[in-house]
Formats: sequence, C-alpha cells, structure tokens
Amino acid sequence: MHIVRGRATEDRPTKKRTKTFTGDAWADPLMPQTADGDTISSVTFTPGSRTYWHTHTGGQILIVTAGLGWVCAEGSPPEVIRAGDIVWTPPGERHWHGGTRTTIMTHVGISIGPTNWLEAVEDEDYHAPPAIHDG
Ligand code: MN
Repeated sequence: MHIVRGRATEDRPTKKRTKTFTGDAWADPLMPQTADGDTISSVTFTPGSRTYWHTHTGGQILIVTAGLGWVCAEGSPPEVIRAGDIVWTPPGERHWHGGTRTTIMTHVGISIGPTNWLEAVEDEDYHAPPAIHDG
C-alpha cells in the first residue's frame, strides 16, 4: 500500500500539455506514475482543446469533475460528457476527449498501463454529436 497525499502546491506548477494535445489543456498528476505505467491526473481542457487519438493498454476511467466536454470512440460520433459522468474506455480502443468548442471540461483520468499516442484529431472530426431528428 502506498498513500499519496494531495499534491497541489505552489512549487509544483500545473503543466500545460502540448505534444499530444491540440489547444490549451492543463494537467496535474495526482499520483506518481507506477512501475506498470498507471497514472491518475486531473486534466482541464479549455474550449477547443482535446487529446490526440490514443489508446490505453489497460483501459481508462474518466471522472468528469467540472464543465462540459466531448468524448469520442473511433467509429462512433462524439458524445457529450458533463460533471458527474464516468467514461470507461476498454483496452486498445481508439478515442479522444476534450472540451467542446465553447466550454471547459475537467476530468480525473485513471489510466491503466501505458498510453499509446497516435495522430491529432482533425477539425472535421472535432464536433458536437449530430442532432437526432426523429421525424
Ligand atoms: Mn483516454
């Protein structure tokens, strides 16, 4: 067992994520990465920002703690997520997550095993769920 105390301090500044994110996203690790590559981070996506496409070796749990965002699994349209929602992404599923074009979204991400980063999410793939018209 290993207890990690709250880590927010002024001498440990929040990091802006750049290499595998589009736009401005900010991340605070909540726990040091384990030897197996597991991580827990709180990530805040500003409007328009999102991850690149990626997979998680052992899957990922997202706990949306504030705001409104989009999450998308490859082959399906994006879906709205908001504070209180939980997203389970199984191992190996290609996906992305982020704010919407106009809103911030913050989630705690619990990633099991290493994350495999892929290409950027193009603007045409970054959009709200299509409207449902039922006649
Ligand atoms: Mn993910």
